[in-house]
Formats: sequence, C-alpha cells, structure tokens
Amino acid sequence: MRQRVFSGARPTGRQHIGNYLGAIQNYVNLQEEYDCIYCIVDIHALTTLENTDRLQEDIYEMMLDWLAAGLDPQKSILFVQSHVPEVMELHTLLSMVTPLGWLLRVPTFKEKARMQPQNVNYGLVGYPVLMTADIVLYKAGVVPVGEDQLPHLELAREIVRRFNSIFGPTFPEPQPKLTSFPLVLGLNGTQKMGKTYNNYIELSATPEETLKLVMTAVTDPARRYRSDPGHPEVCNVFRLHHFFSSSRVDEIVAECRSAGIGCVDCKELLAKGINLELEAFRERRASFAARPQYVADVLSDGACRAQVIARETLAEVKEKMGLVQRPA
Ligand code: SF4
Repeated sequence: MRQRVFSGARPTGRQHIGNYLGAIQNYVNLQEEYDCIYCIVDIHALTTLENTDRLQEDIYEMMLDWLAAGLDPQKSILFVQSHVPEVMELHTLLSMVTPLGWLLRVPTFKEKARMQPQNVNYGLVGYPVLMTADIVLYKAGVVPVGEDQLPHLELAREIVRRFNSIFGPTFPEPQPKLTSFPLVLGLNGTQKMGKTYNNYIELSATPEETLKLVMTAVTDPARRYRSDPGHPEVCNVFRLHHFFSSSRVDEIVAECRSAGIGCVDCKELLAKGINLELEAFRERRASFAARPQYVADVLSDGACRAQVIARETLAEVKEKMGLVQRPA
C-alpha cells in the first residue's frame, strides 16, 4: 500500500521560478511514489494577511500553476484548506493537548511577532497546531520538508505523541521526507527569489517579459566592461544557467572567464533557456486558464475526497476524547 503524503502551501498567487525549481517540481515527482494530498492553506494565510481582497484570485492563480506544472487530480487530491472545515474543529481539539509553552517558544512565531507587531494575533501562536491538524486529519505518514522546516514537523510529532499517549493510538507520527530544495536567488543576486523582495520571474510571464526581467539581473560586480574577464562563481545569472542551460555550463564558464561572451549575451541565453523550459508549461497554463470551470471542479472534487477522510478521522478523535454525537 502506498504511503500518504501531505503538503500545504500558502496562497501566494502566481508562482515564480524559485517555487517551480523548489516545491512544485518535487510535488510533481512525489505523485509517482505516494498518494499525495496537496492543499492551498488559505486559513494559514489569514494569520499574516490584513487585506484579503486578492485571496480568491491568488488561490486560483496558484492552482493554475500547479495544474500546468503537472499536479494531476487523477493522482493527487488538490484542494483548498477552508473547503474542508473539519480541520478547524481538529485544530481546536488538538489545542487542548498542546502546552502553550511549546508554541510560544517556536522561532517563527517570535519572528512573525517581530515583523508584524501591530497584528500579533492568536492564529500566529496556534499556527503549528493548525499545521498539525492539516497533516493528521488525513493521517498522512510523510511530509516533504526542507531542512529549515524540520523543527515545525518535530513539534507536530510531539503533539501527535501527546495526543496518542492520552487518548490511545490514533494518528501516525508524520515522518519528514527531506528534500534538498535548490536555493534559488532572485534577480538581485543576494536574497532568495520571492515576492517579498520583488526579485522574481513569474512562471506565467511571457517570453518578452522574461527577457526584460532577466536583463535586470545583477551579475559579477567586478565585471565593469565587456573586455573584463568575469567570475561565474559569484554570478547569479550563471547559477540560473545550471537550471535552464545545463548542457552549456562548461562553455559559459570558459567564455565568461576569457571575456569571450558579454553579460548581455549571457543573459539573453539564459532568457532563451527559461523560455524553452517553460514553453509547454505556459501552453498548459493558458489552456487551464481558458477553462475556469474545470479548475473549480478540480477544487470541488478534491475537497469532497479530502472531506471523506477528514470526517472519518474527526469522528474517531471525538469518540476517543469523550465527545458524543448530538442526539438526533
Ligand atoms: Fe555572469 Fe554570464 Fe556575465 Fe559571466 S558572462 S558575469 S556568467 S552574466
């Protein structure tokens, strides 16, 4: 029997090439080996969003990118977190076995509280409990994580252990599936590619937009003139070539070091590589975008399938916790 994987991502709208090379490609590959449940975690997003005007659009755009990248509703359950409200009930129940001290110690809570001192809401503190509910509601045994997310999963495992020790074996302890996501730096060459730093290339950008954006990328700062030899090892454009022009990497190194190629030509080559890699993705995305009803159906069907599992788990949890059904 295949193991069940759960992973959630906050709805951040159109995805960029950093998301693609990291989480999304990994999601697609896992589908071959596991029964996967992928969730757009809109309730989690509310902990940091003060304005929700774009929330529905962001969910839709993200799902278009997931589908175009190869997430397949025939193979995986794709849905939106709030469409299966049982998760909120389980969150409340799990909060009863989670010591507050565990949550107040979480580094990301402290960091978020620092970042948004005007909005240190209860949801921020309870975030790891909701995350645990996301995973165990579906009794997922495997969670793909990067090294930096391991402490969060460990906290989820502690909550599971505590619940199981009080109420009897109920949830599997979710195991991490460590994934070495490549660190994709943004166009400024210093920070991770992301919306926070406005240094990203959207997957759905047109070839012309992609070229324009790549042209703004920071290269080797020591290379001031076309005749200066370059240092590819410090250049982020070169790093991106590894992903999008891998067969030409040796050639680019030699040409850069000998000033045989200029940065403008090198960037044009990178834009060409990105556009070639994403050509089929963009065609698929346009075709899904032309069928909004199909996307809505995928989400609706995903929520129904997820809810079947969720209801069963929640009934078991309530019974174990001594909560009885309301008399008919
Ligand atoms: Fe970077 Fe390419 Fe310029 Fe070399 S030629 S510094 S690899 S952009």
